[in-house]
Amino acid sequence: MDTYEPHIYELSSPGKHGTNLPRMDVPESELPAGLLRQDGMNDFPELTEPEVIRHYTRISQRNVSVDTTFYPLGSCTMKWSGKLHEEVARYAGFAAAHPLQDAADSQGALRLMYELQGYLGEISGFAAVSLQPAAGAQGEFTGILAFRAYHLDRGDHDRLEVLVPTAAHGTNPATAAMAGLKVVEVKGHACGGVDMDDLRAKVSPRTAGMMLTNPNTLGLFENQILEICEIVHAAGGLMYGDGANFNAILGIAKPGELGFDFMHYNLHKTFTTPHGGGGPGSGAVGCTAELAPFLPGPRVRLADGGGYELFTPEKSIGRMKAFHGNFGMLVRAWTYIRTLGAEGLREVSEIAVLNANYVRVRLMDLYPQAVERICMHETVLRGQIAGAPKDIRTLDIAKRLIDYGFHPPTVYFPLIVPEALMIEPTETEGKRTLDVFIDAMRQIAREAVETPELLHEAPTTAPVRRLDEVRAARQPILRYDREAIARVRAE
Ligand SMILES: *Cc1c(COP(=O)(O)O)cnc(C)c1O
Repeated sequence: MDTYEPHIYELSSPGKHGTNLPRMDVPESELPAGLLRQDGMNDFPELTEPEVIRHYTRISQRNVSVDTTFYPLGSCTMKWSGKLHEEVARYAGFAAAHPLQDAADSQGALRLMYELQGYLGEISGFAAVSLQPAAGAQGEFTGILAFRAYHLDRGDHDRLEVLVPTAAHGTNPATAAMAGLKVVEVKGHACGGVDMDDLRAKVSPRTAGMMLTNPNTLGLFENQILEICEIVHAAGGLMYGDGANFNAILGIAKPGELGFDFMHYNLHKTFTTPHGGGGPGSGAVGCTAELAPFLPGPRVRLADGGGYELFTPEKSIGRMKAFHGNFGMLVRAWTYIRTLGAEGLREVSEIAVLNANYVRVRLMDLYPQAVERICMHETVLRGQIAGAPKDIRTLDIAKRLIDYGFHPPTVYFPLIVPEALMIEPTETEGKRTLDVFIDAMRQIAREAVETPELLHEAPTTAPVRRLDEVRAARQPILRYDREAIARVRAE
């Protein structure tokens, strides 16, 4: 059912319009000739208001989102973002605040930032927090720049290597490389954790630090975390915590107490600020007192004369983002934390872990586990179904799930797991939803053996079928190009 949605240009015909401009009530004035466009408005779509509204409403209904369906995209924590957060973020005092307003006129906004810094620090066991970075990856970049600045400040010039486990999210090695440091890979062990012998072999006086996520990208708690931190610290290196998986340990373990020196929080994952459509996100960072002077500013502190003020830490690596970070995201995260309280946050993690293990246990007879262990908030299975033809792959299973009305889980990540299917149900889903999803996964496993063509053909119910992802990446058509579209459709 490859239904083609006519582009807005194709609905256009000359002379139609959908606006009612008020009569001019100011004197007409001459524009300088240099500011006037030289050519006509060629190829500008002309439509009526209902045509425009229907066009965009129709395509908006093709969006798959947490508002419409279960969205078990592993590592991304696509949990429900409470509508209350949206309401609070829209309060005029927040939404209309100008970032250049004086501190005296923005005490409410500054107080919210101050309190959020405090909550995040308390939840994670860190002394200081900066709300600047725009996303997790930028938080990582902030951390590694701070590591480098810390070492240089102590006259330690030769620490140019960052240890990164082979299972790491791609942003970790990319961050180290962007910071101008060398990535040194540390192997994983069959038990799903870091290979300690390999770690001991790779750590050295050149180690600036290690980047690690706990739970790791296999959804497993890194049991040797205390020893890992000890080894890296003993060599003079620092521990960077990739906080993307923080959803599993809220109120249970504090990364700062496990031995991490610096960490980002993905507010758009753990703290339910929305992350559809590529953002905006927020990758606030927390760190130890030793690293606090290097944090990006401005941060918020209590002012001597009462109230709140902005300040920049003395050895700050500088700004990471214009003004105060993605402030609207900070409002949402603050609201989430205040709504749940300490006990509620702990319950979040307990239920997230319970849900992931429920899915794992109910699917593991058909979908082999990457590592046979109790998981944390997500489970990594493999799309290798016994008795199915060899050409049935994880991609086919994911596409078939679309026909069953689900957003597929993350596939082919982590890279070290063949045919990986990474399922993160999150705590905001109830048993009924999980059961329907599990039934679909079990049915797909049966189809893979009995009617594999159904999987090869999937998705059959989506507006578009299989996309040529390589071509879309290499030869993207990024704006309306009538001829290019006709060419592609003719093929
Ligand atoms: C999402 C994620 C990141 C990057 O975070 P962004 O906010 O998307 O930049 C890093 N590491 C892991 C494990 C992640 O899941």
